[in-house]
Amino acid sequence: QWAAATGALRTAVAAGDPILLVCHVNPDGDALGSMLAVGQALRKLGATRLQATFPGPQDLPEPFVALPGLDLLVTAPEPPALVVTLDAAAESRLGAYAELLGKVPVIVLDHHASYTGFGDIDLVDSGAAATAVVAAELIARLGVPLDQGIAECLYIGVITDTGSFKYALTTPAVHRLAADLLETGLNPGEISRRVFDTRPFGAVKLYGEVLGRAVLEPENALVWSTASLADLERHHLAPYVLEGLIDGIRCAAEADVACLLKQVGPAEWSVSMRTRGGTDVSRVAVALGGGGHRAAAGFTGHGTPEEIMGRIRDALGE
Ligand code: 5GP
Ligand code: MN
Ligand code: MN
Repeated sequence: QWAAATGALRTAVAAGDPILLVCHVNPDGDALGSMLAVGQALRKLGATRLQATFPGPQDLPEPFVALPGLDLLVTAPEPPALVVTLDAAAESRLGAYAELLGKVPVIVLDHHASYTGFGDIDLVDSGAAATAVVAAELIARLGVPLDQGIAECLYIGVITDTGSFKYALTTPAVHRLAADLLETGLNPGEISRRVFDTRPFGAVKLYGEVLGRAVLEPENALVWSTASLADLERHHLAPYVLEGLIDGIRCAAEADVACLLKQVGPAEWSVSMRTRGGTDVSRVAVALGGGGHRAAAGFTGHGTPEEIMGRIRDALGE
């Protein structure tokens, strides 16, 4: 698969074919970071007709507005001859770009246990801590040396998906990669501050409210809370401020599973799930229409928070 991927990319670059990079809807640091790292590497390889995009609302979260390689981002890409998807485990995560599947060759870079197999060439490693780890390997195999711009994007992907080197997939190889990335001259303190630790004051107040209304169900080993659109509006906040808030809830020792229900529509909630290890939350998320990893997964639920929590309790019981 590696040889097929590098071969297809080298051929497309040499022919001047249009190449399109697509990451998942509501992109996070791993989706954008791995996409823009691969984009910058392909450009160094000589790609001329190269574009990057993602489906859905186009506002970039504030922490990502200065990412290197953002000039590759377009909202209406030209029809591609080759597609590379990044950090998207299912067709649904590609929005309208899923229509390209089956029409042009698709190389998939991903690390989700729930990957559905929609690609033609799969660079998918469910043991990888981040898609950025897979992207780093691809870039190395293409023979493109790391520069600071590529390294910053990969580093942001790694720290986003490992919780800054805290989660289980933080292997020695992840630390070695991080060391290689820092060697290019990155400032890890500045990057972490920008990505995780700079939010409007309203976010501090909102975190207090969401944590304050968290519910512990010891009998179900469950802890959960909600953040509504009205909460965001009251504090004049964009949805990205809720990324990572699940980490404040999951530390409840009495619970094995933590859920944060983030409202995205009148009766539509984006659900983040985490486990201490006793449950495979990706199975629960897949059963409810989503996906993810064993210890971190999510899905979109319809109805009221109580109805959605009822479905989660049922799925956990099975
Ligand atoms: P988060 O809770 O940080 O948004 O997402 C945790 C994990 O669950 C990520 O790996 C993400 O890909 C996956 N995930 C979250 N929401 C969804 C969803 O609606 N559909 C799918 N397929 N995966 C999701
Ligand atoms: Mn992601
Ligand atoms: Mn990821």
